[in-house]
Amino acid sequence: MKNFERILQQQQLFFNENKTKPISFRKSQLIQLKKVLKENINDLNKAIYEDFRKSEFETYATELSMIFHEIDMALKNLDSWSKKIRVKTDLANFPAVSYLYPEPLGTVLVIGAWNYPYQLSILPAVMALAAGNNVVIKPSELAANTSKVMAKIINSSFDPAVLFVAEGGIEETTFLLNQKFDLIFYTGSSNVGKIVMKAASQNLTPVVLELGGKSPCFVMEDAQIEMAAQRITWSKFLNGGQTCVAPDYILVKKEVREKLVEAIKKQITQQLGHDPSASEAYVNIINERHFDRLISLVDSNKIIFGGENDRNKKYLAPTLLFPSSFSDKVMEDEIFGPLLPIIEFDNLEEVIQMVKSKPRPLALYVFTNSKKYSKKILLEISFGGGAINDTIMHLTNAHLPFGGVGNSGMGNYHGKFGFDTFTHYKSILHKTTLFEPPIKYPPYKSWKLKLIKLLMG
Ligand code: NAD
Repeated sequence: MKNFERILQQQQLFFNENKTKPISFRKSQLIQLKKVLKENINDLNKAIYEDFRKSEFETYATELSMIFHEIDMALKNLDSWSKKIRVKTDLANFPAVSYLYPEPLGTVLVIGAWNYPYQLSILPAVMALAAGNNVVIKPSELAANTSKVMAKIINSSFDPAVLFVAEGGIEETTFLLNQKFDLIFYTGSSNVGKIVMKAASQNLTPVVLELGGKSPCFVMEDAQIEMAAQRITWSKFLNGGQTCVAPDYILVKKEVREKLVEAIKKQITQQLGHDPSASEAYVNIINERHFDRLISLVDSNKIIFGGENDRNKKYLAPTLLFPSSFSDKVMEDEIFGPLLPIIEFDNLEEVIQMVKSKPRPLALYVFTNSKKYSKKILLEISFGGGAINDTIMHLTNAHLPFGGVGNSGMGNYHGKFGFDTFTHYKSILHKTTLFEPPIKYPPYKSWKLKLIKLLMG
């Protein structure tokens, strides 16, 4: 911990000496980050495979490519993003100019989760560096090999006063949370989110919380069922169901339920084979604790597909549960695994009220060809973000902010939104020195009051 304390002091000093602020410096750090990640790509692939059998394809498609894309976006736009922004000036301040002056927040702590260990630790750091901050990354100890490889690669390639990976579990995280950072960016469960927010409040440190929740997926009677099944199957069983924005459960209109279930079964076999344990596209459960938790959620009477499991390999097959209902155990908390409860409904109004009675989800999906349905659901239910006729892909569009609402989190990032999250915009009024109108100064006169009323309304 002494080491962490020393590095934090170095970062604070480095920041106070304004060394992170030049745009050329920020760009050089981003270029360096991309370079060392590319150079060590084999080690990154090996570590993540050892952690939970994640393939090279998925590691690139769902983690590294997003990091590289975001670095490129920052490099391309940094000059314009970091310019002051001119805004209008009101009559009361005439003549003057007004602008927003972007400045980095300072020293930032990024606490990552294990399920996308590279993306969730490094992506926030990219925009933090782009905005001129320095960063301590604390990856999740649950993905031990990826945590180790990130520490090895980054700590040997960067000045720790700029970017440092601090490894460790709850004890180390607790220690870091008690230090004075200028922002804490946390990704993980809502329970730990509360611990983070409480600790941050002691130092009045702002927080961004990227949390989880039960993300519903509506399938209406007018949906293109085959396509819906293809997209739902891919996103639900990607990463072994351990994706924060995965559709947690399906709400399907009664008349298309059978067709949808059959189409999902067909898709599982098509995408992952008859034995998903042999597929390179199928990831294991991260550890025994999560494996046991998932098994305890399964009502064996409701398994209509899958259910096979092997604790030694931490393997749990894609499993469909029907008929599910809101009172099932599997519907209590976020599943975060390859179990897909299917709830059939007749009355959209009722089912919307059920969803609204639960904590606000991170994501929501609607499969329909009708604007009437999508408009109604978007208007009525609050959630972080989502898609119509697709699942999870909204988070790959860096022009959309990614984040939750209510229990699923606060704050957001990706692209320019990430830059803004790690930036403070100073409000500046730049006044002329040529003359000074007398209106606001005593002695107060009735003509002055009349003029103020005229100008200000
Ligand atoms: P995790 O166990 O990896 O924990 C996340 C971080 O919290 C780790 O760095 C860990 O060291 C730290 N931590 C754990 N317990 C702590 C404690 N008692 N005190 C201080 N620090 C502690 O991840 P997780 O919580 O299992 O992640 C799963 C959850 O994260 C799910 O709910 C998922 O939906 C959510 N998630 C959200 C996003 C998002 O972007 N919104 C992304 C991934 C995961």
